[in-house]
Amino acid sequence: MSRINLKSAATLREPNELVAHGLASAADLPDLEKVAARYAVAVTPDIAALIDPGDPDDPIARQFIPSAEELVAQPGENADPIGDHAHAPVAGIVHRYPDRVLFKLVHVCAVYCRFCFRREMVGPGKATALSSDAYNGALDYIRAHSEIWEVILTGGDPLMLSPRRLGEIMADLAAIDHVKIIRIHTRVPVADPARISAEMVAALKVEGAATWVALHANHARELTRKARAACAAMIDAGIPMVSQSVLLRGVNDNVAALEALMRAFVECRIKPYYLHHGDLAPGTAHLRTTLEHGQQLMRDLRGRVSGLCQPDYVLDIPGGYGKAPVGPSYLSQANFPPGEGEPDPETRYRIVDYCGDVHRYPPKP
Ligand code: SF4
Repeated sequence: MSRINLKSAATLREPNELVAHGLASAADLPDLEKVAARYAVAVTPDIAALIDPGDPDDPIARQFIPSAEELVAQPGENADPIGDHAHAPVAGIVHRYPDRVLFKLVHVCAVYCRFCFRREMVGPGKATALSSDAYNGALDYIRAHSEIWEVILTGGDPLMLSPRRLGEIMADLAAIDHVKIIRIHTRVPVADPARISAEMVAALKVEGAATWVALHANHARELTRKARAACAAMIDAGIPMVSQSVLLRGVNDNVAALEALMRAFVECRIKPYYLHHGDLAPGTAHLRTTLEHGQQLMRDLRGRVSGLCQPDYVLDIPGGYGKAPVGPSYLSQANFPPGEGEPDPETRYRIVDYCGDVHRYPPKP
């Protein structure tokens, strides 16, 4: 296996650089140039070092190395798959649920994920940051809506900001009385762990609001020693962490991979939070699975790992209607033959245990 040299390498942004480093085939270059003209490409040295160039099915490569399959959009795929635009009252804000808003500060990321649900909005070709006026307009919106309890910094990746700028933004938000929680969604601790410096950790802590960090990772191999140290620096500073992952075909769509990922999160003191079903982003069908397969994986996971390791399996409903847990459900109603001493007929709850065995539960208290 040929690994990239972390010390001398820079982030790879061009298909010909991927070919030069053995991460893509020269024969694919014309197609990859077409993909890169439409969707941003970036592979940091830390991520490149995780890829086995000799493995055509490498689960890390599948997440970050572009593929000609991205040129094919399927019916139903949508440039705004989770409906951000339907809930954007001012620039930079998505207000979908009453008590929280997304605050999209930057449009750049350390790496660009091939399945990204905001792939039409992120990348160097897009606006890189909110203008000063737009930033102030977004803050005014949050100030004027006292129901906003939580502000979720997302993007792009908010940890691409400098610690100084991030600290200013955290202070601006924490100064708003009704904002009690600031949650940051990021891939930086795995993609570029060196960015989680002491200054960055200090910038994340703020008087007047609790900071939470949601780490996006999809395969246990992403949680390297350096990534774990970056997360530990935040957690040791008193910042709780949760995870979010995307269920991806060829990356984590088998129970062993999901089990390893969820165990790795918990070992890092990161509570598994969401396992997202793949969104209908353009050119991503080759990375999606079916809902039935996702439900079966969740059943299998429940039988194998601690409750601490169980994420919620969720689907963002296209059109901007929010997230819905998509099961599986272990409870239903059914007519059972009566048991000894039970009246007949009566509908009873049917409940399935972690081994798949069916049990009955009385319908009345
Ligand atoms: S880090 Fe998030 S926003 Fe950036 S490319 Fe990946 S999924 Fe998209």
